[in-house]
Amino acid sequence: MRRKVIAGNWKMNMLPNDTIDFINELEPNIKKCESEVILCVPYTDLFYAISFCQGTNIHIGAQNVFYEDSGAYTGEISAQMLKCINTEYVIIGHSERRKLFNETDEIVNKKVLKALENGLKPIICVGETLEEREQNKAIEKITDQTEKALQGLTKESLENIIIAYEPIWAIGTGKTATSKDANEAIKAIRAKVKEMFENTDITILYGGSVKPENAKELFDEPDIDGALVGGASLKASSFESIIGAN
Ligand code: PEP
Repeated sequence: MRRKVIAGNWKMNMLPNDTIDFINELEPNIKKCESEVILCVPYTDLFYAISFCQGTNIHIGAQNVFYEDSGAYTGEISAQMLKCINTEYVIIGHSERRKLFNETDEIVNKKVLKALENGLKPIICVGETLEEREQNKAIEKITDQTEKALQGLTKESLENIIIAYEPIWAIGTGKTATSKDANEAIKAIRAKVKEMFENTDITILYGGSVKPENAKELFDEPDIDGALVGGASLKASSFESIIGAN
């Protein structure tokens, strides 16, 4: 089923104390919101965030996971490790990981499968570069990334998946896709999922410089179910305004 979702991606920001302050400020103000609210926090904040959000309507996610179960993989975190502290979501294939840590579509797919196998819900990111958009290759790129990320999944597992369309040129740059372009891209992802699984109900978010000022216009589009928010999720007040717009 399509759900309204607002997810924050804190990236490499916020210490445990900041996390607790943020949740204390946000939580009383979003008790009645219509969207599912997710915070994807650094590994070192996970335990605090999960403990503090128990019994609230804030869901907690990690920002990455490794695709092996255990072994000599220094510095990596397994799906089981995340699950055993009650992590619910995990971002997979963020463009920063694809670019800075050489994550390929094959790696993204392995991580998605491993996350699902362990009961984690993946938030899968896809998106085109500026060059690809200017060459009219955006739709081809994102539908290809979607197809590769979802290889080997069952139709039933789509219920536990969120896709985030994040044009790379819009992330952290202050530039946002127009709401029409964002909707067109998300519609194309939905069509690809339908072609693969006979399902159009998957939850798909837009991400890329979403702020309180531009959120409503994006959320008014028929195919956009919410947002994955980076910079504007670091302040409880701006995140709350975005939640209120959906
Ligand atoms: C992101 O990191 O996923 C993101 C969308 O960042 P920002 O909102 O800062 O562009």
